Amino acid sequence: IIPWMEVDNMWICVVHYLACLSPTIGSVVYHLFMNHIGGKQVYDTLLSLDMFGVCLVNTLGALPIIYITLLCYPTIQQASLLAYILLSAYGIYCATTANTNITRLKAFVWQALFRFSLFLFRVYGSGVGSPNSLRLFIIMDSLAVLGGLVNIIQIPERFSPGLFDNWGNSHQIMHVMVICSIIYLHWGTLEDLAWIKSYQCPTE
Ligand SMILES: [Zn+2]
Repeated sequence: IIPWMEVDNMWICVVHYLACLSPTIGSVVYHLFMNHIGGKQVYDTLLSLDMFGVCLVNTLGALPIIYITLLCYPTIQQASLLAYILLSAYGIYCATTANTNITRLKAFVWQALFRFSLFLFRVYGSGVGSPNSLRLFIIMDSLAVLGGLVNIIQIPERFSPGLFDNWGNSHQIMHVMVICSIIYLHWGTLEDLAWIKSYQCPTE
C-alpha cells in the first residue's frame, strides 16, 4: 500500500519497504526453525538473523525520517545519513554478537537517541516534516522501547511460571508491540511522503 507512482523520491519507498519487511521475515524464520536439533551453532545463527531483521528496520526505517527532517539543510542531511548508517553498522555488530537480552536491547540505544534528537529538532528547531507524522513516530519508538523492556523484565510469566508458556508471555507481547511499532512507522512515513510533494524550503 505504498503509493509508488505518486512519489518523487522512489528510494524512500524502496528503503521503507525493505525496513517493514526485514524484521518480519527475520523473526518468522527464527521462530519457524525453533524445532531444529542442530544445537547451539544453528540456534545462534537463527538468532543473529532475527536480530539482523530488527537492526534493518532500525536502520532503514529511520533514513527517510532523517532525510525529511533535515530536508532544508542538504549538507547536514547527507552527513547525518552517513553518521546514522555508521552508527547502525556498529549497532548491528553489537546486536548480532550480544549474549544477553539486555546487551541486545542496549545495541539499539544510540540509534534511538539519534532519532529522539531528530524529533526534538522538529519540535524546537528548524526540522521539517508533516505535522501529523511526528506523533506517529513517537508512538512508534515508545512501542518499540516498551516491547524491548517487557521482553527483558519477563512480565507476566514472572508472576506465574508455566501459565503463559503457550499464550500471553512477554516474548509474544513484545512481538505484537513491535508489529504495531512498524505499522506506526509506515503511517508516519506515508504522511511524510504525501507532505514532501508540496513542501518548498524557505529561501534566505
Ligand atoms: Zn521472537
